[in-house]
Amino acid sequence: MQSVIIPNETQMLSFAAELARSLTKGSVVFLYGDLGAGKTTLVRGILQHFGHQGAVKSPTYTLVEPYKLSKQKMYHFDLYRLGDPEELEYMGGRDYFDSDAICLVEWPEKAIGFLPKPNISVFISYHANGRKITVVQ
Ligand code: ADP
Ligand code: MG
Repeated sequence: MQSVIIPNETQMLSFAAELARSLTKGSVVFLYGDLGAGKTTLVRGILQHFGHQGAVKSPTYTLVEPYKLSKQKMYHFDLYRLGDPEELEYMGGRDYFDSDAICLVEWPEKAIGFLPKPNISVFISYHANGRKITVVQ
């Protein structure tokens, strides 16, 4: 387990790109942290590494946003508004995770028991000098 302090958004995107290098087809990443911690920022950095350009909108109401990038299909989940973990089942959650897409999941704690085991878990917390990130593989 390793923790680092990341001082700003630019460094956050660089950190995400570095993290993205360890992801392969079918990888599942859980992103933990309070609102505004920087989960979506990390997702943006990861998507950019795989060739996505432009903004990343939080799929707060749709729960999932697909990205068909040239070499890699990716799904970005934001489960903050998931009322009941079973909803994930109704929306066909299994199909997303059984594919060879990379799945990036914000608020995985909202769907305990309905998600596969992650390859990497990232914990982000507020810190006087930016954010503290702990990566658990
Ligand atoms: P979340 O998805 O966790 O709710 P967002 O990524 O949407 O958080 O928002 C994080 C906010 O914090 C953004 O305004 C971003 O600019 C800022 N931010 C991201 N990383 C850092 C950092 N390492 N230090 C300071 N501010 C950051
Ligand atoms: Mg977010």
